[in-house]
Amino acid sequence: MIFGSKERYVVHTLGDEVLRKKAAPIPAVTPEIRALADRMIRTMRVFDGIGLAAPQIGESLQLVVIEIPPDAMEGNPTPGEALLYPKMPLTLINPRILERSAELAARDEGCLSLPDIFAPVIRPARVVLDTDLITGEHVTLECGGLLGRCIQHELDHLDGVVFSDRVDGKSLPVILPELRRLEKYGARHHYLRVITR
Ligand code: ZN
Repeated sequence: MIFGSKERYVVHTLGDEVLRKKAAPIPAVTPEIRALADRMIRTMRVFDGIGLAAPQIGESLQLVVIEIPPDAMEGNPTPGEALLYPKMPLTLINPRILERSAELAARDEGCLSLPDIFAPVIRPARVVLDTDLITGEHVTLECGGLLGRCIQHELDHLDGVVFSDRVDGKSLPVILPELRRLEKYGARHHYLRVITR
């Protein structure tokens, strides 16, 4: 970055149509896609996130970035955690989930597109991720722990799904006032969060 220059980082929030669209596959990793991935990584870092899907910055493409600190890796890591943690930040191109474990786990989730809203979500404890990485590698790996959780959350964004859609009837009333407040805030701010740095 040139000294003294400023960059504007934008995350689209709930209420914006782009978060409800099905994202398009990426036919080839062009310089534009690499630039988009770089911008997503910088945006994720500026907003202190651990994952970001392209629709969250207004691009309806099957592109996801993930950066989880290494100390978040839990004991007994799955093969996916063991292989992918050292490669952070990850850029996933056209990722999909091939299998979901029958075992479920509950964990609090948040989302840069739903600022200040946190609620428990029940999801499969482990999934088999099949994806291209921007490095050119193709991986098919079982992922659990926080990484498996993050993959499921981010891939939901590519299908137009946000975590509040998956909050159960017990927890939903707790976050409903916040969701309504977000709707009002979002309408006033064109469903955008903006940081200039
Ligand atoms: Zn999210």
